[in-house]
Amino acid sequence: MNAENCIFCRIVTGEIPSRKVHEDDDLLAFHDINPLAPVHFLVIPKLHIPSMAGLEPRHEQLMGRLMGIVGSLAAREGSVDGFRVICNTGRIGRQDVHHLHVHVLGGQSPLPGMIARPE
Ligand code: 5GP
Ligand code: ZN
Repeated sequence: MNAENCIFCRIVTGEIPSRKVHEDDDLLAFHDINPLAPVHFLVIPKLHIPSMAGLEPRHEQLMGRLMGIVGSLAAREGSVDGFRVICNTGRIGRQDVHHLHVHVLGGQSPLPGMIARPE
């Protein structure tokens, strides 16, 4: 999928509405439409990068900033005692939306174990 018909690019432009957690010139964080935990939001670069597998050295500063704001956003959303970051990547990682995003999951009680038993 390219930037033109990418759901998350359309969220960045506001064409598709979202419940924003944070926005600045380079990054957007918004609540997942189908939350899997009491706190579940996504953080994306506004730039259309298809996946973590497509990162290049020129993205280092952007990704550093992205990872750097997660903790404060998670705390602000009420996950004060930790959280989990997941970045599904490609076919093996079962990535559905091909615009790089990290899931931030948390809440008051500990999350389930890392990965479910094999299907
Ligand atoms: P992936 O499997 O690619 O890591 O996760 C994509 C995530 O994006 C899913 O958790 C899904 O619920 C979320 N999502 C898909 N479409 C939309 C949307 O239009 N708005 C919001 N807020 N989340 C979306
Ligand atoms: Zn995109």
